[in-house]
Amino acid sequence: MSSPEEPSDFEFPPGTDPQRRRPRLSFELLGCAWNGHALVGTDAASVGDEDTLVVRDLDHDRRLHRCLRCDAWTMLPVPAHPARPTPAPRDEIVLPDRGRPLKGRYVLRLIALTRAFNVLVLLLLLAGAVAVLADRTALRDDLVANASALQDVFGGQVIGQVQSVLAGGAGPLWLVATGLTVLVVLEATEGVGLWRATRWGEYLTFVMTTLLLVPEILELTSSTSPGTIVGMVINVAVVLYLLISKRLFGLRGGAAAVAAEREHDISWAALARHIPGRSTLDPGAGSRF
Ligand SMILES: [Zn+2]
Repeated sequence: MSSPEEPSDFEFPPGTDPQRRRPRLSFELLGCAWNGHALVGTDAASVGDEDTLVVRDLDHDRRLHRCLRCDAWTMLPVPAHPARPTPAPRDEIVLPDRGRPLKGRYVLRLIALTRAFNVLVLLLLLAGAVAVLADRTALRDDLVANASALQDVFGGQVIGQVQSVLAGGAGPLWLVATGLTVLVVLEATEGVGLWRATRWGEYLTFVMTTLLLVPEILELTSSTSPGTIVGMVINVAVVLYLLISKRLFGLRGGAAAVAAEREHDISWAALARHIPGRSTLDPGAGSRF
């Protein structure tokens, strides 16, 4: 049921939906906890009717600012020494991520952290290969022991094979070191691309993760260690998430649908959807403020 001040497509700001039964993480609130609210007009001498969506004067001394990310209204004093006569025009304001794009950004950063872990492990192995090449026996023995410890934790044959490489039991070591270097660069590039939520980062992650799934699946035929299975489940989840939620390769509308989703959640129209009619907040109309 909707009132004249609560249109049918009105969406409750994060953390305010009275209909919600189960708790849900509000990524907008996390973003504001970390970065602070994204406010407009804090440095403006005066605000007008065209600004009421995001900032409005409460009286001569106080002003209400709406956070562009989490929709919370914050009361601040009117600046004593304003830097500009009016708030920045809308086309100069960069709207912060919110809604589904913001949630997706957190997921991508979580995946990026797993890539950072992979880089650390690969660097350890690369250091081992270099140590063997330089004939630093003591360091090599330490790293072989570390690789063994990693295998105890994560299981699988890959680490065991690398341990064998470091012990001098496999082909030309310079080739192994080159391969490890390429992997480090690829994994690090992947992590940066994901952290910055780029389209190329999503595609690179999809290709790399899919390629790495092949040896993992082959490994399943001879080893069923918990580490192998957990790693494979995570990688399958990453691949499916990128395909379905990020709409790679044109799936579910592809890049156009991603752009439309972004426009739906991060735009001035989206801000207008999240706010009741002006009279509800108008101080002169007996508002709750
Ligand atoms: Zn906020």
